[in-house]
Amino acid sequence: MRFADIPGNENVKQAMINMARSGRVHHALLLYENEGCGALALGLAFLQYLNCQDRSEEDSCGQCHNCRQISRLTYPDMRFTFPITSGTKVSGAAKDLTCDDYAPLFRELVQKNPYFLENELSAALGIDKKSGLISVAEGRAIMQKLSLAPVTDGWRGIFVWLPEKMNQQTANMLLKSLEEPSEKTIFILITHNPESVLSTITSRCQGMRVMPLSKEDAAAVRKLSDIGDAPLYNDLFKSLIDSVIARDLQAALEVGEALASMDSREKQKAFCIFAGEGVRNLMLFGRGLESLADCGDDADWYRSAAAKLPAGFAESASAILGRTETMLERNVLAKILFCNLATRLYVIAGQR
Ligand SMILES: [Zn+2]
Repeated sequence: MRFADIPGNENVKQAMINMARSGRVHHALLLYENEGCGALALGLAFLQYLNCQDRSEEDSCGQCHNCRQISRLTYPDMRFTFPITSGTKVSGAAKDLTCDDYAPLFRELVQKNPYFLENELSAALGIDKKSGLISVAEGRAIMQKLSLAPVTDGWRGIFVWLPEKMNQQTANMLLKSLEEPSEKTIFILITHNPESVLSTITSRCQGMRVMPLSKEDAAAVRKLSDIGDAPLYNDLFKSLIDSVIARDLQAALEVGEALASMDSREKQKAFCIFAGEGVRNLMLFGRGLESLADCGDDADWYRSAAAKLPAGFAESASAILGRTETMLERNVLAKILFCNLATRLYVIAGQR
């Protein structure tokens, strides 16, 4: 992965290039993004730039041995940590599994699409009915990797995707390494919820904000990515809002049922995020800020729906969706959550 292959985020790329060229590489970077905006791709391009045997002022060469190995994710001095549990593709006691058990599946996904979303990773790993974690066993595996001498004489990259899924015990194991890593070792942490990352971790990292992609760049990236569920989420979201506007509780509950019966928790969370964007659009339309909304061909629908909803609906709905997403993380029964979501939206839509 070269910087040139990644759309947008020129400031982040330049900061990384400057760091590499000045030799003042911070040993732990915390990249935070809205999911799917390319933080992992940027991290990979950075490790490649650090290790390229023929880099220019702006980018790695993409051709040398190190570039090719890093592009293929076969470079021996890199390791990937991400949330896992046992599933349909890798079985065994969840507490004993490490990301090494999942490495081939992870590599395959990143090669296909480095902009993958959380639910796409869970699907690729075969754990999409469950919530993954970064366990103590995984913490031990990272420490083990760090205790071994590097294979190359280049930079070693330890990637942690979603450090917010790490418990205190695992984090404690890593703190010392994060603070004083071995020479030429860089941690690259990628979070979608910086406020949920333990402060003992964030305080040891240099934060870098990865910005959302422009519409054009997002469209280019999404072609790589299979987010075939977006039209379904859009239909469900609009049906839900239409039902509560029509004061049809039964219809709203039926949408809730459909959401509860989706085949994975990750898809349900993805719906909550999608619907969060939807209510943001409703708020923008409600305040006459249509030009800031991102709603594709649905402007007419949003305009009409926003006009029929009471003031403050979008703000309350946004909070309810956020809570639903959090409760999904905690494995609360989906049927209860989505029935509750439909009912609450029905109630707030009726408050004049
Ligand atoms: Zn190179």
